[in-house]
Amino acid sequence: MLHLYNTLTRQQEAFKPIHEGKVSLYACGPTVYWFAHIGNMRYFLFVDVVRRTLALNGYEVKMVMNITDVGHLTGDVDEGEDKMIVAMRREGKTATEIAQFYTDAFLQDIDRLNIKRANIYPKATEHIPEQIEMIKHLEKNGFTYRTSDGVYFDTAKLQRYGRLSGQRSEEKKAGARVEMGEKHNATDFALWKLSPSTGSGHLAGRQMEWDSPWGVGFPGWHIECSAMSMKYLDVPFDIHTGGVDHIAVHHENELAQTQGAENELEAHVWMHSEFLTVDNGKMSKSLGNLYTVDDLIQKGYDPLAFRYLVLGAHYRSKINFTFEALDAAQNALNKLRQTVRDWDEPEVGCAELEEKFFAAVNDDLNTSQALAVVWELVNADLPTSAKAESLLRMDQVLGLRLKEFVARPHHIPKEVQELVTLREEARKTKQWERSDELRLQIEKLGFHVEDTAAGPQIKKL
Ligand code: AMP
Ligand code: ZN
Repeated sequence: MLHLYNTLTRQQEAFKPIHEGKVSLYACGPTVYWFAHIGNMRYFLFVDVVRRTLALNGYEVKMVMNITDVGHLTGDVDEGEDKMIVAMRREGKTATEIAQFYTDAFLQDIDRLNIKRANIYPKATEHIPEQIEMIKHLEKNGFTYRTSDGVYFDTAKLQRYGRLSGQRSEEKKAGARVEMGEKHNATDFALWKLSPSTGSGHLAGRQMEWDSPWGVGFPGWHIECSAMSMKYLDVPFDIHTGGVDHIAVHHENELAQTQGAENELEAHVWMHSEFLTVDNGKMSKSLGNLYTVDDLIQKGYDPLAFRYLVLGAHYRSKINFTFEALDAAQNALNKLRQTVRDWDEPEVGCAELEEKFFAAVNDDLNTSQALAVVWELVNADLPTSAKAESLLRMDQVLGLRLKEFVARPHHIPKEVQELVTLREEARKTKQWERSDELRLQIEKLGFHVEDTAAGPQIKKL
């Protein structure tokens, strides 16, 4: 029986889907004005484990993940500079080109981490009419007010506003300095922002703005998720996910919008993954510690080593990323891969250890415990064919692509082959340093390359 921690009820609950055998899952997706970093990837890996665990429990999952390609503001809620405009200036491209480029980069990272793709990736810019419709609905139901710069949600009008985070408007006002502007309550938020130039034409440089009943402008940050989840999943749906930073603002406001417009609870179960920090601090470009999946590959790591590292922690615990921790994950993964190469072909698994593994993941996705069971299996006194069968079943949740390694004594992974080819090219052009670097990368992946008269020979370390 699957148990999941629900942020909304603040407890772990036995999971019960709305429609038998089916689960509707909405995962807040990436903003596409820059590369996703490994903190973001921790979140997307968490969603993947949710999804794979649901599948393991026999559910048919329909998953929607939005692509936020509308410019939003860099500040907390409705302040600061628009991130899309910042990106356009930085790269000299149109908004559409930027969004497409970073969406493609995101999908490439997802594939590299063996994260299953969502069924639908709706883009915010392609759902402006749906968002306008929902705001009109909220207006009709009396939850909005106008200011000189837009349309706002009046959080004082919604009886249970704050139920997700437990934070009330007065507390928010006291806690952080909130730019009130013309807002009635500190927690009120924009549903539609007018372009500053409304009335006299469109804002110079702002390519993302649309006509609306309230004037030319663009949607607030939260409305896309309420509108698109309703369109593709109907409400209420089963599970809504995000990082913990989404609880207090983004998800609280999504919940309020759907409640206000549809008089429905948006989702039954709200799940949030903790943050990943680097060297015990926030990642930032200025500190030079903001890493992407590409950076890890450049340094010679297999992206799946990062996946292994993330699986080693519970999703509700913080992860402190260091390269020592990544080395340890890469070594463990190499060891696992090497061990299973010599196993026999899978046949009749070990029910007891499989049960133990499923109990761990079904206990609010306890992946670190699940990994411990994997090693228990590896070290167990069982026929390797049984171990192979069970391990591959476990890997349906872990997603470490172990099938490519089980019972393949001579198989050399594609990444290693590619590095060997690159190294040969470097040697031909006498780039010895580069060639040594590539050798180290190959060794990190658990292989040794020997230069013979017949060409490079690749061996397991
Ligand atoms: P964004 O593209 O900025 O909207 O972020 C995508 C997701 O990544 C959101 O659900 C965030 O909660 C999550 N996220 C952002 N930074 C981190 C981090 N350092 N660690 C874990 N998750 C993060
Ligand atoms: Zn969202």
